[in-house]
Amino acid sequence: MSSIKDELVQYGRKIYAAHLVVGGGGNISARDDETIWMKPSGFAMDDMGPDDLCGMALDSGRQTEGPHKPTSEVNMHLAIYRVRPDVKVVFHTHSPWLCGVVSAGIDMARKPMFAEVVNDLGRRVTVPYVTPTTQTLADLVAEAASSAETIFMANHGVCALGVNMKQAFYRCLIVEDAAQSLVAAAVVGTPQILTREQEEDLMSQSGPQHRVKMMERP
Ligand SMILES: [Zn+2]
Repeated sequence: MSSIKDELVQYGRKIYAAHLVVGGGGNISARDDETIWMKPSGFAMDDMGPDDLCGMALDSGRQTEGPHKPTSEVNMHLAIYRVRPDVKVVFHTHSPWLCGVVSAGIDMARKPMFAEVVNDLGRRVTVPYVTPTTQTLADLVAEAASSAETIFMANHGVCALGVNMKQAFYRCLIVEDAAQSLVAAAVVGTPQILTREQEEDLMSQSGPQHRVKMMERP
């Protein structure tokens, strides 16, 4: 069985291969009891090994493991885990389609166009632009994370929370698909957004609930 560090490295490569980040952009982390493992600063997600990861103590925020400095969004990751004891994984990507759409002022949290957005992203919220790497951003995203699992960040990207890496990764993929679909709809016509009633109907179906349970299984 692979360790959390091995799995985090594997998912970093998947995120990079899916074009959800380029260069050293974005950052990912996972909880291992009181230690939060995260991406080191200045590394691309497809170019780091388990021994490059940074181990941070959740309570003090001090680095306890790893030879490199942690990602510059270290405080954002720690703040999310502190408000959400149930969250095991935080993936933050600069997904290009999503970033383009939210940078145009579109509130993606309120633009569901297909079932996965409603059923698989959990609660969705959009936060305004704040300078990356600041404590202000960490506080803002943590506050949003107290009542959401997918956080759209204007002019920046997305934070996907999960009970495991698969769930957080799928959320990142669905978000990017949703942004592409919205752009495609806007190019050829007028996007038809699901109504509140259609969302509620989707959430009441047993099939999607079963799928979410499967995704959350270890
Ligand atoms: Zn970022």
